Amino acid sequence: MRLFWGVLASATLALSGCGAVAQVAVGALPAFLIGDAQEIELGKQGAAQVIATTPVYQDNTAQAYVQTVGTAVATVSDRPDLHYYYTILVDPEPNAFALPGGFVFITTSLLKIITNEAQLAGVLAHETGHVAARHSIQLIRQAAIAQGVEAAVLGQNAGQTQIVIGNVITQLLLKGYGRDKEYDADRLGAIYATRAGYDPNQLPTFLDLLERATGSQPGWVSLLADHPSTADRIKALVAQITNGHLAGSKEGADAFLRATAALR
Ligand SMILES: [Zn+2]
Repeated sequence: MRLFWGVLASATLALSGCGAVAQVAVGALPAFLIGDAQEIELGKQGAAQVIATTPVYQDNTAQAYVQTVGTAVATVSDRPDLHYYYTILVDPEPNAFALPGGFVFITTSLLKIITNEAQLAGVLAHETGHVAARHSIQLIRQAAIAQGVEAAVLGQNAGQTQIVIGNVITQLLLKGYGRDKEYDADRLGAIYATRAGYDPNQLPTFLDLLERATGSQPGWVSLLADHPSTADRIKALVAQITNGHLAGSKEGADAFLRATAALR
């Protein structure tokens, strides 16, 4: 994505880069709290950076559809009170990601790999899981602390806040959240999708499709070493679905293909 390199370049100039972020253990963080209002504000700033550099897909039917499916899983998530925004970006990279405060993005190339609504719900539920578990706000805290700019995260310095957020977005897009949080989001994604009535097996099915479609290319931030392999994610999901007796029947292939017809 063009966006990453722009953000990365500006972040690297001012800061020591992503490496410093990864080295900070969560346990070492001082306990300063970021409330919902502030988290939403940080997410809004991040979303503005995203759409300033990557075009939003101009198709009201598809956008409204993705928002509807996303809202269906968000409503049954562990954080239903946030307002979630699900936005399609035009990008050749198959990707989806979540910013703090409920700003979720999915790319046109990822939508082209998905074959039904249950898979879309699974992907959006995974991203919603990152938001519900406050994964990205934790990354922002880590980034701010690693860079010695905690005050900036509290909104006292708009310029530094932008840099920290940019750095975190870059890390998210290049590396995901790391192994544990990705498994956690998969687990939450399967639960939310099931609660919304969808067949949870469509999430591992989608991961398989993604791997076949992308081969050795990065797909849904799956290539980096600290991200679980697609095969391991599928294995964990299948075990969770079987052992937890997760069951839903909705697949919605027709509705999905109708709403995203212009993409094909
Ligand atoms: Zn993820």
